[in-house]
Amino acid sequence: MKENIFGKQLKECETLMVEQGEPKYRGGQLFQWLYNKKSEDFSEMTNFSNKLRETLSKNYSLTHGKIKEIQRDSYDGTKKYLIELSDGECIESVLMHYQHGDSLCVSTQAGCNMGCKFCASTQGGKIRDLTSGEILDQIFLIEQKEKLRVSNVVIMGIGEPLDNYDQVLKFIRIANTGFGIGQRKITLSTCGLVPGINALSEENLQINLAISLHSVFQEQREQLMPIAKKYGLKELLKAIDDYFIKTGRQVTYEYALMDGFNDRDVDINGLVKLLRGSQNHLNLIGLNEIQEVAFKESLQLNAFFQELENRGINVTIRRKMGREIDAACGQLRKKRNKDKVII
Ligand code: SAH
Repeated sequence: MKENIFGKQLKECETLMVEQGEPKYRGGQLFQWLYNKKSEDFSEMTNFSNKLRETLSKNYSLTHGKIKEIQRDSYDGTKKYLIELSDGECIESVLMHYQHGDSLCVSTQAGCNMGCKFCASTQGGKIRDLTSGEILDQIFLIEQKEKLRVSNVVIMGIGEPLDNYDQVLKFIRIANTGFGIGQRKITLSTCGLVPGINALSEENLQINLAISLHSVFQEQREQLMPIAKKYGLKELLKAIDDYFIKTGRQVTYEYALMDGFNDRDVDINGLVKLLRGSQNHLNLIGLNEIQEVAFKESLQLNAFFQELENRGINVTIRRKMGREIDAACGQLRKKRNKDKVII
């Protein structure tokens, strides 16, 4: 099978042109065709000779995935897309409309190995990593389908981005320099892979980093998130401090409120201790309840928020988008795998 050219970064485009006996700058032109002009066929690349276009199409494919299913939330307009990859695996992306623009939540893996107890994406384990092209393709396909430009990207869909580090970094760089999405408009969320956070702090990027915290207590975090056994809270907090020192970027802690588990007074006190005087920000999330899991949505969300705010913490509540359509990532893919829904 021919290799897909979509997903190659500038350096790779330059190398492949030089390999064809072309000057290096042709690589820059190819990069422009792929990501700036979003060409769908080599024949559109009109500043290349016929011979070069033929050689490219002989050696490479230029293909995209397929949107197989769309669900729309009639309340807030959030749309969820089930996208089929070239090998038949499916992933999800979610498009949210905000006043400041359209934000797309992208997946980075088919499935996930992290095993967080409250999360639908991880229940079948990880099937495979996505390539940079497959992550970019989510933006490409949805922009084309909806005739809009995605202005913000949140890397919070299916998968753990730092468990697919190289492809995700390639994705970020192409989304930024190719699609023209500002680094500060890209947010990467991780469950806490410390080596990945350390590596990211050396990349000289201005993206936003979000950390899925969910508890300030080591023992409880371990109950929720197996990764916490490998990288304890102390180590994680140190990596976050270092990240701030190196990049000057504050991080956001994500905290999904679960009834009777992490919504108690001791949790508020722990969060105040962690966050008071820090530049970092806390984002409270209403839990999306999934089947087969004991954790329930907390009814304390507003009171919990209010108390933290009264105590001077930099805290927000994440607006729950796509409530009607199971917008917690992984639920549509899971359903499809189970029922083999065809549209
Ligand atoms: N693996 C990464 C990114 C994907 S999950 C991470 O863990 O951060 C994106 C966010 O959704 C994370 O904060 C995750 O903890 C949260 N999440 C997962 N399942 C959820 C659920 N059922 N309800 C609310 N938030 C959930």
